[in-house]
Amino acid sequence: MANLTVTGSWQGRQYIAGRWQAASGDVFENINPANVDEALGVYPRGTAADVDTAVGAARSAFDSWRRTSRIRRGELFLNLANLIRRDTDELAVALARENGKVLNEARAEVVEGLHMVEYVFGTARQPTGHMVASEIETKDLFVRRKPRGVVAVITPWNFPFAVPLWMLGPSLLEGNTTVFKPSEETPETGQRLAALFEEAGFPSGTINLVHGVGEEAGDALARHAGVDVVAFTGSYDVGSHIRRLAAESEHKTCALEMGSKSAVIVCEDADLPLAVGAAILSAFKTTGQRCVSAGRVLVHRRLLDRFVERFVAEARELKFGDPLAPDTFAGPMINGAGVDKVLAYNDLARKEGAHILLDGCRLTDPSRARGWFLSPFVYIQEPKPGVRTIREEVFGPHVAIVPFDSDEQAIRVYNDTPYGLSMAVITEDYRRWRLYRDECDYGMGYVNLPCIGAEVHLPFGGVKRSGNGQPSAAALVDAVTHKTAFTVNYDRRIIMAQGMSAQVSRGEKN
Ligand code: NAD
Repeated sequence: MANLTVTGSWQGRQYIAGRWQAASGDVFENINPANVDEALGVYPRGTAADVDTAVGAARSAFDSWRRTSRIRRGELFLNLANLIRRDTDELAVALARENGKVLNEARAEVVEGLHMVEYVFGTARQPTGHMVASEIETKDLFVRRKPRGVVAVITPWNFPFAVPLWMLGPSLLEGNTTVFKPSEETPETGQRLAALFEEAGFPSGTINLVHGVGEEAGDALARHAGVDVVAFTGSYDVGSHIRRLAAESEHKTCALEMGSKSAVIVCEDADLPLAVGAAILSAFKTTGQRCVSAGRVLVHRRLLDRFVERFVAEARELKFGDPLAPDTFAGPMINGAGVDKVLAYNDLARKEGAHILLDGCRLTDPSRARGWFLSPFVYIQEPKPGVRTIREEVFGPHVAIVPFDSDEQAIRVYNDTPYGLSMAVITEDYRRWRLYRDECDYGMGYVNLPCIGAEVHLPFGGVKRSGNGQPSAAALVDAVTHKTAFTVNYDRRIIMAQGMSAQVSRGEKN
């Protein structure tokens, strides 16, 4: 990644009906989380009127887009893939700067987005439905997918490139048109993505970009009567608000990916170095700000002392610092609210009687004092009833090590949260991993791996408060299409299924 240029002051613009629009009213700043004195750019603060225009543009583009050959739609994704490949390094730098993720992770995220686009292109030549057998030999039965219409794509700051593509890709390929509202914390990555869609040749109105604050532009978009599907990834509170809005509408559906209290479970037969490595990556990659970050590591009591010794030694050495420096393990928190939340949960853990192993705090040395940097907070907490810190999402470098004495207890403790997103079990015993596979509540399960790390052709979603049963990435196709049953008769007679008579008995003329 030599000779990277770091962009100067970024100019925010919205992209509506194929036209780029500079701010004409209120704006918001994009603050560098590694140095809060630096505003990276200024962006239009989208209004309900902007949303209305964007939804109108998407509606107008819908009929022509859905009638465009699916293969032609797919070919535009091939163009997009080539552009992402061309710009990977620059996209990664911009992403790392506004999001605080280290460069290697930012690059991996751009590559994940690229993989989604390649996947979408690849599936363009596959059928969108299937044929099933009929009871009647002279009938053909088809299950066909039809696009739902206008998809609102509302995304979080922590994956500002890959997550929008998980949603925009399947939505557009299936013939829907879209209005995309990126997080106000990471507007630049969203804007660059929209510009690449334009350059790839997507017709005007098929993808529209509205910037802005969640409670304003986001809310207006989720509420808009012209939106057919809200594809949302973010916190549980906002997701449940969107679920209520959709429930009040007669036609709107939603696909929700939300928070978690994911876990690595270290069984008594675990390979210890592997377990420690998996737990460190799960807990601290992206500074613990992944939806699937392990806020809990459940450890069999027989391994507890040895695990704790190694885990704490490694966590203590992790370098949290400049996201653009090559030797940094993880960057800052995204903002002050995120820092305050983690510090409040650190205090709560103390009040709840945690045995503190690493006391996390703000990092205030000169190179980090102007950023939202935190050090890891690691503690042992017994699985007592009512302990909030081992049940609630913290979203930062805050990790509870929870001892257990049996697999049955570990499963009970793992399931004892309102969430169910990701679970990793570390064991050498195939019967044991099957037990966890079948008894734990999750959307993504791993064996002898961290509980983070997705591939785009798998469904990405969770249960309970983590999702509403409409997973994202490749599986989003189910949320952005409806399945239609289509029956064709090749006989000259009408033959009904289930043996129902097609005889029309004629009585006396009236
Ligand atoms: P957030 O819920 O605060 O914001 C997400 C998006 O919703 C943003 O674009 C925001 O502007 C918008 N928004 C906020 N209020 C809104 C409203 N009233 N109406 C409509 N839109 C609104 O989440 P965040 O802080 O950006 O992201 C962190 C959260 O996302 C964490 O809880 C994390 O677990 C979750 N997350 C989940 C997944 C997953 O796939 N399950 C992936 C990434 C992040």
